[in-house]
Formats: sequence, structure tokens, C-alpha cells
Amino acid sequence: MISKKLQDAINAQINKELFSEYLYISMQAWFANQNLDGFATWMDAQGKEERFHAMKFFNYLIERGGKVELKALEGPTVDFKNPLAIFKAALKHEQFISKSINDLMELAIKEKDHSARGLLQWYVDEQVEEEANVDKIVHHLEMVKDDPHAIFMLDNQLGTRVFTPPA
Ligand code: MG
Repeated sequence: MISKKLQDAINAQINKELFSEYLYISMQAWFANQNLDGFATWMDAQGKEERFHAMKFFNYLIERGGKVELKALEGPTVDFKNPLAIFKAALKHEQFISKSINDLMELAIKEKDHSARGLLQWYVDEQVEEEANVDKIVHHLEMVKDDPHAIFMLDNQLGTRVFTPPA
């Protein structure tokens, strides 16, 4: 059975992952309104990935005999300036999530919960990838600035993303 402390912290993390989904589909809506359908597709895949992150914690809590307690979701930002500002905000958000996962890992170590440590290591590695993916797009957007032709090419490229849950 999982400790109450760890259970509460994982429930708080489930809320953060679901908020992440909310944030990314809000960004998806902005891109769709701008007719940047490829960026919107990328955000759609990102949102689905966040939902997967939330449900992985959700299923784990149940497996450990813990209780899932869903809390109210905060409303995400709905107005954005431009694609670069969006991806910078996404990067900042992922850095915040990485810190939160690291704090959870610290707690699992303190609680001597080796099983939770194993689960959290998956998230630690996942966050490296999350930050790297978003950081790369930030750099691409900084390179192309407002060049419509380059934005259009980037839109085509990002539109190929599909989220496939890991086996
Ligand atoms: Mg996540």
C-alpha cells in the first residue's frame, strides 16, 4: 500500500498533467483559429500525451491500493501572441513539470518507496524528451522569425506528429 503522503502528491501531479492537457488544447485552439493546422495537430498530440501521463499515475495509484482524488482544473491561458510565444510558454511549463516530478522523486526516496521510484524514473526520463522537443521548436521559430514561407514549412512538418502510447 502506498503512503498517504505519496498518494496526495501523486494526486496533485495527476492534476498538473491534466492541466497540461488543458493548456495544450488551448494552444491547439489558437493555432486552429490561425489556420496553422500542422501546429494544431502537434498540440493535439501533445495534449493526448499529457492525458496518458495523467492516466499512468491514475492506474498506478489504483494498482497500489491508493485512492484517486481528482481536483478542479485551473483555466489555461486562452490568448497568445504568436507561435514563438506559445512554444516559449510550453517550454516554461515543461520545466515546471520537470521540477514537480523531481520533487515527487525526492519524496519517494524519503518514503523509501522503491516501486514509486521506478515509476518516477520513467517520468524523469520522459521530461528530458519533453523539454528537448519543445526547445528544438523554440529554436526553429527563433530562426525563422516572421517569415511566412518558413512558418508554413514548419507547419507542414509539425503536422506529421502522431501520438502513440508506449506499449
Ligand atoms: Mg506531462
